[in-house]
Amino acid sequence: MKEKVINIAANDDTYTLEIKKCLVEILKNNGYSCNEGFSENGELNITIGGDGAFLRAVRESSFSSVPFIGINTGTLGFYPEITPENMEAFVHDYINGKYAINDVNLIESEIVFAEGQTEKVYAVNDIILKRKDMKTIHLDVYIASNHLEKISGDGLIISSPLGSSAYNKSAGGSLVYPSLKTLQLTPLSPIISNAYRCLDCSIIVPPEFEITIYPERRTDYYIALAADGEMYEYDEIECVHFRTSQRIISRLSTGTFNYWNVIKDKFL
Ligand code: NAP
Ligand code: MN
Repeated sequence: MKEKVINIAANDDTYTLEIKKCLVEILKNNGYSCNEGFSENGELNITIGGDGAFLRAVRESSFSSVPFIGINTGTLGFYPEITPENMEAFVHDYINGKYAINDVNLIESEIVFAEGQTEKVYAVNDIILKRKDMKTIHLDVYIASNHLEKISGDGLIISSPLGSSAYNKSAGGSLVYPSLKTLQLTPLSPIISNAYRCLDCSIIVPPEFEITIYPERRTDYYIALAADGEMYEYDEIECVHFRTSQRIISRLSTGTFNYWNVIKDKFL
């Protein structure tokens, strides 16, 4: 019989390591062997930590299709829905097939460089564009190839529905119910003056619309891009296309997950 393997990706603080030890023991008693970090042999990924641990594990697996679930030992924990107290009950539910698997569409960004090469960066929550030297950034916004506006300010956030409760919410964006497939563009401190004028609200588009951003072209213009908090730096960017990706990750859920309860619990 094939060995049953579960991947564990844990933060390294003392409490989390304690919980990890308990989890490994519980899994062993139920016939599983545990793999530290990601392996394609794993049938499930369990993260231990907060949202950062969850998002990092997803990135480190290169957005694997092996389902993810988290045990929350972190500060907020929007993604990890299992508490350390109920992890043994969760393992039993998992073995008994008492769970649901939900698809999560990734945000895809395709960066087009001045010389024509391209690079793709994916995210679960959001992708942030700012200027590395923190001066005012000027960004031309196209929606489905239509020029809409030039945003001047600190930058912008492109967020997914699940990411809408993260940086997007802090910047005044709307919460988007996770079953919708949308991209939300939220400007960061947009300037509205006689010199610069842009929309000071979020824009939400359906999946058939691509959002394309052209940063102002200047020699000293370094762009910083953060995908789920992971930083990338570029010069000589021609444009960045943002789409709701066909690529998905899977979230395992015990069925007790209720979006509105999570929002109330975590934010109100
Ligand atoms: P972090 O700096 O620890 O994240 C900031 C906070 O956002 C943490 O409390 C984190 O939860 C929480 N968070 C992450 N994803 C969330 C979601 N989908 N809904 C609600 N809250 C969420 O960095 P991180 O843990 O690596 O997370 C990366 C995310 O931080 C980015 O995707 C971005 O959205 C967010 N961020 C927010 C701000 C802001 O609100 N001003 C600024 C920069 C980045 P945990 O405590 O459980 O980790
Ligand atoms: Mn965090």
